[in-house]
Amino acid sequence: MKFIADASLAGLARWLRVCGYDTVVFQGEAGRAMMRQALAGRRILLTRRRDMLERQFPGRIVLMPVADAGRQLKYVVEKLSLEVRREKMLSLCLLCNELLEPLAREEVCDLVPPHVFENHEKFNRCRLCSRIYWEGSHIDRVFNFLEKNDIRIV
Ligand SMILES: [Zn+2]
Repeated sequence: MKFIADASLAGLARWLRVCGYDTVVFQGEAGRAMMRQALAGRRILLTRRRDMLERQFPGRIVLMPVADAGRQLKYVVEKLSLEVRREKMLSLCLLCNELLEPLAREEVCDLVPPHVFENHEKFNRCRLCSRIYWEGSHIDRVFNFLEKNDIRIV
């Protein structure tokens, strides 16, 4: 399941990526062009624009009734019966939506701060922007966010 979100849902898009769901943000006014991109990429369209429902669209569209990113994530997870799987979490670049690739530890040595290198075993890199990811303290923040929003990890 892949998504395209309108620009007002960039926060939700980021959380969907955290959970391993391929999500692009449509830059520009939500409308025909966004619908075409959704169909071409077989993406479920996420929007806050009620008028999008009035247009003819053969794909799937989810109107987001809430403004808070956590509640939006909860809404999508329930509405579409999404599974938030531990092994899929942090598998995508949060900026580019690209799949991360594992990086050998010795390759990372000069690329991250020394305390990060010393305290972590596994590193991943975005194939597009070369940003390096590791499961540091932010994984706890992710867990807290999901728990706070009553989203279960399987
Ligand atoms: Zn990237």
